[in-house]
Amino acid sequence: MSNDSPSVEMPKSEEEWKSRLSPEQYEVLRKAGTERPWSGKYVDNHEDGTYTCAGCGSVLFDSSTKFESGSGWPSFYEPAVAEAVEVVEDRSHGMVRTEVRCRRCGGHLGHVFDDGPNPTGLRYCMNSLSLDFKPAAG
Ligand code: FE
Repeated sequence: MSNDSPSVEMPKSEEEWKSRLSPEQYEVLRKAGTERPWSGKYVDNHEDGTYTCAGCGSVLFDSSTKFESGSGWPSFYEPAVAEAVEVVEDRSHGMVRTEVRCRRCGGHLGHVFDDGPNPTGLRYCMNSLSLDFKPAAG
């Protein structure tokens, strides 16, 4: 699987993003919003498969790294491909957090915290609205 073989063309304007995404997806991916905890469709998904970016289709996370964080958001201990995400310091809302974005489309995915499980100790706290799930074949 390669992130260099896009299945979709990248929008060039915010108007194009708006027409591609649902209003809820747009608010999270393009406006760095956060879905309400436990509201997302992937919090309790335990199927084997791959999570891709809802904005551009880039492969982001594998179900084998998903864990029960108790946070109300789908949580992973590492990206499927390290280069698929980028991290940015986020000082909004009176906190210093590390924002996680899709490197390919720049879409906001969530935040990463250092209270995750082994083997990385990281908790990628993602919005379901930023993700699409592709069940494993077979
Ligand atoms: Fe993306």
